[in-house]
Amino acid sequence: MFDLSHRTTLALRVQANEVVEIHSEAEASALCADRKRPWLVLSGGSNILLPAELTQPVLIPLIKGIVACEQNAESILIEVGAGESWNDLVWYCLEQGWYGLENLVEIPGWAGAAPIQNIGAYGVEVKDVLDSVRLVDLDNGTVMNRSAMDCQLAYRSSIFKHKEQDRWLISALRLRLWRQPHLNLSYAGIRAELEARGCRQPSPVDVAQAVRSMRQRKLVDPAVLPNAGSFFQNPVVSNEQLEEILRHEPDLMYFPDASGHAKLAAGWLIERCGLKGQSREGVGCSNQHALVVVNNRPGQNTLHEVLDWAGYVQSCVLDRFGVHLDIEPRIYH
Ligand code: FAD
Ligand code: NAP
Repeated sequence: MFDLSHRTTLALRVQANEVVEIHSEAEASALCADRKRPWLVLSGGSNILLPAELTQPVLIPLIKGIVACEQNAESILIEVGAGESWNDLVWYCLEQGWYGLENLVEIPGWAGAAPIQNIGAYGVEVKDVLDSVRLVDLDNGTVMNRSAMDCQLAYRSSIFKHKEQDRWLISALRLRLWRQPHLNLSYAGIRAELEARGCRQPSPVDVAQAVRSMRQRKLVDPAVLPNAGSFFQNPVVSNEQLEEILRHEPDLMYFPDASGHAKLAAGWLIERCGLKGQSREGVGCSNQHALVVVNNRPGQNTLHEVLDWAGYVQSCVLDRFGVHLDIEPRIYH
């Protein structure tokens, strides 16, 4: 048996039957061609909820490397191995003068997982820079390229999270980055942070440092208190439903979303239900950030206690606002 209890950022108790680490795309391809299995791919473990007893074999892609493929005056195309740390990649690119990832600094996890839920923060998504992915078919080891367009990247979603869930190993990403700064300061918080730091003409590094400070102030560090980041997705509601909620909750936090509907801040809804800082059985909503579900008993609590708490939160939000909250991390039962 393999103890994976401290292999995910929520630190749930998990025992696995089999764990295989691979170090290259060729190794992954040979393994999958040789052994037909329903593999479970585990990278940084920051967006995944595993059961106490995991019978599915686990494949860990330790594929490294950051290579420049082609460049012109405006942009550079780089290929990144799935096992590279996302945060290290962001800082490495900034050091090289390759821009576009600065708002995505400090997101835990590995590069190969970034397209799975189209990671995003502070108004930028990996979709904005993703050129293509390299895929290994988990059923037969076939290797192929797929363009970003064909990954159906959307708000915290992609084809890999839905229609083609668990079908592929993403072995590498190709990212197209700018060689000149292209700042995205659309989130008011970034501008305020930069102003507070006296940055009138911010560089991409200034933006990354500002985002890092905001995140370190506001979010809960899994190394201090285990968590899986935002536990629920921000729900999108129709304009009619928005009007209805606003009648009862005039200070509701919401934003227009790309489809012309309204995106509600899930953390605000949970906090308004009085759940911030509440817990049971050692699982609850952080007293620092209501959207973050924390595990106060690392290595002891299981998926069962977490789903129990999540169900309670969902029912409170549904009762008060008529809105269903979807769980963001991938759940394996
Ligand atoms: P894992 O948790 O290991 O896996 C997640 C899913 O992807 C699983 O279904 C797994 O099977 C699959 N998967 C992983 N790697 C591969 C691969 N190479 N090929 C195929 N499938 C794969 N997310 C955001 O979008 N924005 C944020 O700002 C953000 N902040 C966070 C802050 C904290 C404190 C935490 C704990 C999480 C945060 N997240 C955020 C969520 C998480 O960091 C991202 O979703 C990240 O991309 C997950 O990467 P991982 O390597 O940990 O993936
Ligand atoms: P925040 O700044 O307190 O904002 C709360 C919510 O309002 C966020 O979820 C954000 O949506 C939305 N929002 C704020 N300003 C917006 C704007 N100008 N336009 C559109 N939407 C806006 O959020 P936070 O919790 O501190 O997180 C900061 C950023 O990091 C967010 O982008 C968040 O998604 C990201 N983050 C994600 C995770 C995760 O696990 N997925 C964990 C930590 C942080 P969006 O979430 O759509 O941006």
